[in-house]
Amino acid sequence: MRLILLGPPGAGKGTQAKRLEERYGVVQIATGDMLRAEVKSGSAIGLEAKAIMERGELVPDSILIGMLAARVQAPDVQKGFILDGFPRTVPQAQALDGMLAEKALPLDQVIELKVDDAALVERIAGRFTCAKCGEGYHDRFKAPKTPGTCDVCGGTEFTRRADDRAETVAARLEAYHRQTAPLLPHYAAQGKLQQVDGMAEMDEVTRQLAALLDRKPF
Ligand code: ADP
Ligand code: ADP
Ligand code: ZN
Repeated sequence: MRLILLGPPGAGKGTQAKRLEERYGVVQIATGDMLRAEVKSGSAIGLEAKAIMERGELVPDSILIGMLAARVQAPDVQKGFILDGFPRTVPQAQALDGMLAEKALPLDQVIELKVDDAALVERIAGRFTCAKCGEGYHDRFKAPKTPGTCDVCGGTEFTRRADDRAETVAARLEAYHRQTAPLLPHYAAQGKLQQVDGMAEMDEVTRQLAALLDRKPF
């Protein structure tokens, strides 16, 4: 399975990609997570990306295309992948088309998670993550069953992303509408684009995604 999950920040791409990873045994490739790891390690890419990400802008295409080209060579990726957060610009999509054509690994589907901007602001503001195992939570929509304790690993420390502040969210939504939304017609023209109602609750979104993905054997 080779799938792109497209959608604005906070649409639920990461949440759903992790569930699909388990269900279909393919790997999630999340460029935002990869960039945050670069920032944390203090690498040259991390140093360049940090301030850009904190402003809610997109990191240059050349960096992302290089990162992705390296990642799709890895042995675990040959069985399939779910791209989460890439591509985000038309040049990134064109580079991806070229990379996959060269390897004769065509994309199977591109699925857009549709969510209104007003809902996105609330989703992003309430998002937090277990520091130990990375499980994602939300203050209102997915609070830990025991307050302050991770359901999955029992960890008690949580983190919030530096770019999940109200001031940055508007810039991220603007970047989505201006730079990433043009990918929708790009993939529609290839006959690959489908949509799911990302406003529905998490389990329902997973059901809708599985219904699209199960239609076709991989
Ligand atoms: P979200 O899940 O909220 O959409 P991500 O974790 O995917 O956020 O991305 C966080 C930030 O990392 C983006 O705002 C952007 O600065 C940078 N980033 C991630 N993926 C890309 C990409 N494909 N192109 C450019 N910048 C990216
Ligand atoms: P993205 O990767 O697209 O930026 P996330 O998967 O991180 O989005 O989701 C953003 C926040 O919204 C998280 O706190 C998550 O728990 C929550 N969330 C995800 N899907 C839903 C949903 N269908 N309904 C309500 N909240 C959701
Ligand atoms: Zn945990």
